Amino acid sequence: MKPPRLGGKPSHPPGRRGRKPAPEDERKDRIIQARVPEDLETTLKQAAEKRRMSVSHLIRNVLEDTFTLVDNIVADSSALVEQVSRDARRVAATVRGECDPPKPAGKEAVLESVDAWQDVIVNKPGNCIECGIDLKRGQRAYRGLSQLSGVPPVWLCSHCIEKL
Ligand SMILES: [Zn+2]
Repeated sequence: MKPPRLGGKPSHPPGRRGRKPAPEDERKDRIIQARVPEDLETTLKQAAEKRRMSVSHLIRNVLEDTFTLVDNIVADSSALVEQVSRDARRVAATVRGECDPPKPAGKEAVLESVDAWQDVIVNKPGNCIECGIDLKRGQRAYRGLSQLSGVPPVWLCSHCIEKL
């Protein structure tokens, strides 16, 4: 049995992990080889001849176009995402009653927009948003206060305010 080694060479010599970035003078054109079928080679040669450039240059252009195109798609997707979130925000604003009068389905959203309920005397008749009861002039009711502009009046009757 060998005694444990206490000294000597470390089994894992300290080394640099990963690759060093290439020096500036090495970052020039590289050669990439690719096997292509004969008819593709013919097509490439003809296309290059037609454009009065080398096959290498043609392929390089094609590749550059392709990857620029990929970049454009990426850019377009992010623009699309932005457009979709803008639409979603607009829909949400509509539901909250920022743009259009609230729809019956948006009741929860309307109630959500209310910061406080103010104990008032009704002047213009309305309806309780919860039970729908008529709120007549001179009657005591609760008017929802909201920071959102353009929100139609939100009312609660004195019965429904107890259930908050
Ligand atoms: Zn009510």
